[in-house]
Amino acid sequence: IEHIFKHLKNTKGGKNADYIPELKKVNPNSYAISVFTINGESYNVGMFDKEFALESASKVFSLALALKTKGVAKVKQMIGTEQTSTVFNSVAAIEESANHTLNSFENGGAMATTSIAYDKNKAKFEKKIFDNMSKFAGRHLTYSRPVYKSEYSNSDHNRAIAYLLKSYKRFYGDVEDTLDVYTRQCSALVTSKDVAIMAATLANGGVNPKTGERVIDAKFIPYILSHMVTNGLYESSETWLTNVGLPAKSGVGGVLLIVVPGVMGIGIISPPLDEHGNSVKGIKTAEAMSKMLNLGIFNRRQPCKM
Ligand code: GLU
Repeated sequence: IEHIFKHLKNTKGGKNADYIPELKKVNPNSYAISVFTINGESYNVGMFDKEFALESASKVFSLALALKTKGVAKVKQMIGTEQTSTVFNSVAAIEESANHTLNSFENGGAMATTSIAYDKNKAKFEKKIFDNMSKFAGRHLTYSRPVYKSEYSNSDHNRAIAYLLKSYKRFYGDVEDTLDVYTRQCSALVTSKDVAIMAATLANGGVNPKTGERVIDAKFIPYILSHMVTNGLYESSETWLTNVGLPAKSGVGGVLLIVVPGVMGIGIISPPLDEHGNSVKGIKTAEAMSKMLNLGIFNRRQPCKM
């Protein structure tokens, strides 16, 4: 990863998310790569101690929480697993789909997935979401107030989507409270090292390799990982699979959370995004790592080099 880091460090291209003004302010040259193996080995390069907003990568963990409380069949019925070829916050896709919520990663379905954990007591609701993410990270996670405020004051599009889903009875908690808690969840602060540990917990059948704690039953992991395969990088999920070949989830803060099942978790952070909302340098980094370590599941002719 040091070699790849040096090689890609000066890669240009993409731009920070600007629909959330606070994300636009983040230094676009920030760059970090972390690996955490299921045996607890940790490798890090770049700004791996700097915190960034988790954004959409948080959706993986609200899905995990929904699965823990409802099980696969119910979550599948309440949300769905429809693959989209539209932008992550498309209203048209929600309208056109028969089940409307599409999947747990596209914004509408993601908010509906968070709403499954709804509690009338908003503090308890928020605590449930953060306790769960913290267990995956193996440390207490908090959120960035400035990112939250910035995102919440620009959340009318998400609010409209949430009310639309409510009108179709595809939303499972109070819209305003859920939108608020969802926005905090997206503003959760993580380092690339946290992201790697969160991914490594999924790679390790649900046991956090840092703390040894079982965070989720192993029987839910295939549903989460297959969701990442079909929808993890929005409409570029297919290209990602061809070039990298691993379950992953991106976020508009520039995070890439990648799972190498049975081997390790990878966390890459670089804020400038492509037109689909995925980190430009992050994708290049993942492609190089996949190639160098023989990680991609679709072109692996021999065991990966870890
Ligand atoms: N918080 C972002 C939103 O709701 C998440 C989108 C993303 O990271 O792709 O728009």
